[in-house]
Order: sequence, then C-alpha cells, then structure tokens
Amino acid sequence: MNKIEKLQQWLNDTGMDIAYINEPTHVNYFTGYESDPIERVLGLFVFPDQDPFLFTPQLEVESAKKAGWTYDVFGYLDHEDPFKLIAEHILEKTNQAPINWAIEKFSLPVSRMESVLKHFPDAKFGADASEYMEKAKLIKSSDEIELMKKAGDEADFAFSVGFKAIQEGKTEQEVVAEIEYELMKKGVMHTSFDTIVQGGANAANPHGGPEKIALTKNELVLFDLGTNHEGYMSDASRTVAFGKPSQKALDIYQVCLEAQLTAQAAIKPGITAAELDKIARDVITKAGYGEYFIHRLGHGIGMSDHEFPSIMEGNDLVIQPGMCFSIEPGIYIPGVAGVRIEDCVYVTENGSEPFTHTPKELTYVD
Ligand code: MN
Ligand code: MN
Repeated sequence: MNKIEKLQQWLNDTGMDIAYINEPTHVNYFTGYESDPIERVLGLFVFPDQDPFLFTPQLEVESAKKAGWTYDVFGYLDHEDPFKLIAEHILEKTNQAPINWAIEKFSLPVSRMESVLKHFPDAKFGADASEYMEKAKLIKSSDEIELMKKAGDEADFAFSVGFKAIQEGKTEQEVVAEIEYELMKKGVMHTSFDTIVQGGANAANPHGGPEKIALTKNELVLFDLGTNHEGYMSDASRTVAFGKPSQKALDIYQVCLEAQLTAQAAIKPGITAAELDKIARDVITKAGYGEYFIHRLGHGIGMSDHEFPSIMEGNDLVIQPGMCFSIEPGIYIPGVAGVRIEDCVYVTENGSEPFTHTPKELTYVD
C-alpha cells in the first residue's frame, strides 16, 4: 500500500468521510510537493473510496504537477474564495456533503475549520489527522534515510566552516553569517532552523540565539545547526574549546560527552525512549549536574526538525528500526557556560547509525 492508500484505509477504519491535510510538510509527505504557501491555502483532500485531490494557489498548480503528483490539482486565484471552490470540488467527488472530517487538530487554524463549517454546516471533526501523521512518519523508509544522510553531510560541512570561522573579536552573528553563506554557495538554500552559535555564558541559554557578542578566548563555543535536504532535515550540535576554557567548563564538557556517547551506544530495537533518557540523565546526575540538564534527551526528526518520538521520561514507546531521533544532552550553568552535544541517528536492526560524523571528542580552536 502506498501512503495515500494507507490513509484511505485509516479513513475506512475510523469511519471518516474525508481527510483535510493542511500542514505543508504533511502535504509534501503524500504528494512529493514541497511548498511554503504562507497565508494562501494549500490543502490535500483524501476520501475513503474516491481519488484524492490537491488544492493550491493557481501560481503553484504547475509546480505541484511537476513534483510528480498524478491525481487532480485544482488552483484558485487570489481574488477567489478558496473554500467555495474546495467545497465544489469535494461535492464533485462525493455527490453528498461529507459529515465526518479528519483534520489536523494540532495545527489546523481555527479560521480554516470555520471555513469548512461555513460550507459544510453538518461537519463533525472526528479522528485526529495530526495523530495519524505522527504515527505514519515514525518509521522512515530507506529512501528517506538516504536523504537525511545527505542533510547530515551538509551539517558536517557547516561545522567545519563554523570552527574555522572562530576568531577573537568576531561576533556570534558573524560566524552564523559565514556558515550560511558557505552553505548557500553549495546550493543549500534552507537551514532546518536558524543556525545557533553561542559563546561563553550566552551558551547557557539553550533557547537563546546568536547575539552581537564578540567571541572571546578561553571559552566554550556551542554550535547547533541543520539543513533541509529535499524536504528532510538534519540537526546536530557541537561545542568546541576556543583557547583554554576553565577547568569547570572542561569538566561539564566531559560529563555531557559521556552522557551523549553512553546513550547513543545504548540505542537498539526494544529499548524504550524513557530508558534512553534515563541513561544519559543518570550520567549527568551522578556527576552533580542533574539540575542543569533542563530538557528531554531528544526528539524525532524527518520532514520536520521536531517530531515523534520524544526521547523523554514517561515515554514508554519501544524503539524500532527506522525511527530517527536526536540524542542531545546539555548542561547549562547560568553565567558560566553551556554545553550541548547532539547527533541524530537512525535505528538499525541491532543498533543505530548517526547522520553526522564530526568528532565529538573536544576540539580545540586557536
Ligand atoms: Mn539541535
Ligand atoms: Mn535537536
């Protein structure tokens, strides 16, 4: 069964009359068409027993066909009411108004749900297409893993550029600019998220970003970056030593490294997500830094840079071959330093393989 047939099977199993897929990465998953329609309407409509159709802005109809989608593509012009047209196309397929709708409950804007209700006042929102997508995307095919390996190679290249760019007086933002410039020259037009370079104490703010702060010697410098390769993401972190960081900074690096290596080595089919988190957390807690490891161990990755499985306490999900996720322990001591070391991996029959290969032993940059 292909991806559309599996979704149709699920619609039959759950008694749904239609699935409305709105999220662009999910539309891409089914159609092979990668688009960022911004505020315009892009939607995939799938029925249990009729052919699906894709609905796009008129200016994207030809691109969607070129991407390999072989079913109908219908467009709309900016001055037209997209949901009026969508309703007409649906009724052409089904002859009667669908009642039971599967929508993405996590991400469908309320305004679009209201547009559905305007044209189909009897619509009921039943099975959750967001949950379906999470499960469908959990196990990657070998083709998907090949694309993610290429994204991983691009991340390794980005690290090599970033490490070379480190220089006293250069700001974190300037180092980011050099990394992204070199990526773009290689044809990587999209990162998977905004590239992070943080030096010294700024790295202790794991949801902060690169500032107009000049890098200074004898500090750790944290890099977290990733690329989008044909719709598939990479995500990796390395922390390097610029000059000779303090003993405290070097200590937390070694603890974080041990946690990362131990957890990554423990990945195999049959272990649970929670067990992996605990393996890494125990290393950091035993060393006395448990209170500074303030996030889960990892997250799934694929067509989006955060998806399932979540590698965290309380998640008893059993790890299986084909799952792809990050192992990224971090230790953040406010005002002192921050360390994060991250590889994303794919699970094999008896272990795992990383998508990124930049060494994790502490790298010294002068
Ligand atoms: Mn990351
Ligand atoms: Mn990550």
